[in-house]
Amino acid sequence: MRRLLFKSLVHGPLTEAAPVPDDASVAELAALVDRAARRRLGRSLAIREVDAGSCNGCELEIHALGNVFYDLERFGIRFVASPRHADVLLVTGPVTTNMREALERTYQATPQPNWVVAVGDCARDGGVFSGSYTCVGGVSAVVPVDLHIPGCPPSPTALLKGLLALLDCVDRGATEVP
Ligand code: SF4
Repeated sequence: MRRLLFKSLVHGPLTEAAPVPDDASVAELAALVDRAARRRLGRSLAIREVDAGSCNGCELEIHALGNVFYDLERFGIRFVASPRHADVLLVTGPVTTNMREALERTYQATPQPNWVVAVGDCARDGGVFSGSYTCVGGVSAVVPVDLHIPGCPPSPTALLKGLLALLDCVDRGATEVP
């Protein structure tokens, strides 16, 4: 134990340093999301996250939206447990054969009008899992997709930009983050 303690004191942590957050750009983004959320939705947007077969890399970034730095709930945007309470389905991963029906049923259980946001490169066309016998493809192979947020995985900032694009483009039917 003493040796381990000594070693950790001499060599320091093996983990990489966290990236320096760009406070100004996140604050600017936050103000834009806040304004758009108020204007379009009256400060209420409920998201149901569906992992259709991801490696969980995308989930880690989505979870980061809830931490004290990004604090997504301050805009009235929150994650809910049931699709029956959701406005948006945030879907990650390629859709696996086993998750296909679950995704379809989740979509059917979400009240209209609703929006589907495909998160990550896998959600577009299967990504690195494309062609696998276990996958049926991207999210649009199973349910209609309103917006795709690219990245492997997309950063929390990219996710915030995507949600902003969704709020801004809902009336225009855009299918890609600008
Ligand atoms: S896009 Fe990348 S991080 Fe997200 S599920 Fe696919 S492989 Fe994992």
